[in-house]
Amino acid sequence: MTSPIRHSQPPIELPLDGWLLEGEPAPGCKVCGALDLQRTYARKRNDWTAACAAARDIRNHGHTHVEAS
Ligand SMILES: [Zn+2]
Repeated sequence: MTSPIRHSQPPIELPLDGWLLEGEPAPGCKVCGALDLQRTYARKRNDWTAACAAARDIRNHGHTHVEAS
């Protein structure tokens, strides 16, 4: 019996679930637009904490899909 050599692996810095990064910015909403931009930049620098926070803020912005009239 040979014991397998286990290399220590670096921690995977990915969000647990993809939905954590989801969120539909409301069209025309400057706040949502800014958050969407923050999320994009955060993802580019692998800052998942900030990306998740921005996505959560988008989801929590409270748009109720009001139809533009
Ligand atoms: Zn908004």
